[in-house]
Amino acid sequence: MIIKPKVRGFICTTSHPVGCAANVEEQVKFVEQQNIRGNGPQNVLILGCSTGYGLASRIVSAFGYGAKTLGVMFEKPGTEKRTASAGYYNTLAFEERARNKGLYAKTLNLDAFSQEAKAEVIEAIQADMGKIDLVVYSLASPRRKDPVTGEVYSSVLKPVGEAVTRKTLNTDSGEVSELTLEPASQEEIDATIKVMGGEDWELWMDALDQAGVLAPNAKTTAYTYIGKELTWPIYGHATIGKAKEDLDRAAQAITGKLQAGQGGKARVSVLKALVTQASSAIPVMPLYISLLYRVMKEQGTHEGAIEQIYRLLAEELYNPDRDPILDESGRVRVDLKELDDEVQTRVEQLWQEVTTENVKSISDFAGYQADFFRLFGFGVPGVDYEADVDPRG
Ligand code: NAD
Repeated sequence: MIIKPKVRGFICTTSHPVGCAANVEEQVKFVEQQNIRGNGPQNVLILGCSTGYGLASRIVSAFGYGAKTLGVMFEKPGTEKRTASAGYYNTLAFEERARNKGLYAKTLNLDAFSQEAKAEVIEAIQADMGKIDLVVYSLASPRRKDPVTGEVYSSVLKPVGEAVTRKTLNTDSGEVSELTLEPASQEEIDATIKVMGGEDWELWMDALDQAGVLAPNAKTTAYTYIGKELTWPIYGHATIGKAKEDLDRAAQAITGKLQAGQGGKARVSVLKALVTQASSAIPVMPLYISLLYRVMKEQGTHEGAIEQIYRLLAEELYNPDRDPILDESGRVRVDLKELDDEVQTRVEQLWQEVTTENVKSISDFAGYQADFFRLFGFGVPGVDYEADVDPRG
C-alpha cells in the first residue's frame, strides 16, 4: 500500500510505518550521542509510552541508561487495508531497536485506566523484571472510564470563571481568527480533573506498591504544562490547568505513602509546549507554538521531546552531582527556556501582530506543520513515500 497523509482537523488518520521508524531512530541516535553520566533508572514502567513525551522517556531510559522498559499504550494495529496509529508503529520500531541491543522491552496495548491493565502490568513485572525503580506517567486522553463505577468521564478544554476570546489558528487552512470559549460548568471542571488529574496516577502507585513490585526509593513522575499569561486563560487557569493542579496533590499523597514504606518520591515535572497529538487538539496552542518555535529557534533554545526528557533525566532526576532543582511547589522544571521573559515578551508582540496574511512570515507555522506531519511519520527526510509498504508494520 502507498500511504499518504489524510488530515481531518487536528488529527491525521493515516500514518507511515517507515517514517515512524525513522523518527524513533533519530531520537535513539540523539540519546546515544549524549555523554550520560551516573546511574540512571534500570527497570522502568512508562504509562503512555508510544508517542510524544512518553516515547521520549522510554528511549532515554533504554538507550541512555540501558534500562529494561515496560510500556502501556492505547493504539490501533494496522490491517491489510488500514494503517496502524503512529504510536503503534513507533512502538514496533522501538522494540526492534531495543531487542537488537539486548534490552528487554515489552508493551501492553491496554486501557491504562482499567484495573485489568494494572493487574497485567504487575504480572509482567513479576514475571520478567524484578522491581520497578521509575514509573513515568505520561497519559494524555480525552476520556476515562472510572474503574470502580464504570462511569465514563470526558475532559473539556474550556476556561474557568469567565468566557475567553483569543486568537486561534486553523492549522488546515492557515486562517487566524478570534475564538470565544464559554466557561466550563463545575461538572465539566470535575470531569476534566477526573480524566487528567492525579487520581489514576495514585491508583497505579498504590497498586504497584501493594503488589510489592516497587524497588526501595523508587521514583515516579507525571508530566505537566504550566505556560504563562498568553496560554493561562485556555490552559494553566482553565479546566486542564485545574486537572494538572491535582497532580501536585497526588504527588504529595504518593510520596507520603512511599515514605511510610521503603522510601521513594513522586514528582511533577514541568515540560515545554510542543507539537504532539495531545497539544494539537487544544485551541490556541497551535498558534502559540508556531510563534514560540519562531522565537526559540531564532534564539537557538528550541527543543523537542527527546531533548526535554534527556535533560529531565540526566540533569535533574538522575544528575550524579546534585538533587533536582525544584520550584516552590516541589516540581521539577525543564520548561524555563520557554518561560524566559525575553522569549515571552517577543511571543506576546508577535501575538498582537499575527493575522491570516502574515502568519506564514512572522511565525514558524511551517515548522509547526512539519512537526505535525512528522508525528504520523510523514515528511521524514530519506523516506520513500512512493514505495509500497505493508500497513501491518
Ligand atoms: P501524546 O498524545 O503524544 O501521548 C499520549 C500517550 O498516552 C500515548 O502513548 C497514548 O497511547 C497513551 N494513552 C492515551 N490514552 C490511553 C489509555 N487510556 N491507556 C493507555 N495509554 C493511553 O501526548 P503528550 O503530549 O506526549 O502528553 C503526555 C503528557 O505530557 C501529558 O500529561 C501532557 O499533559 C504532558 N505535557 C505535554 C506538553 C505538550 O506540549 N505536548 C507539554 C507539557 C506537558
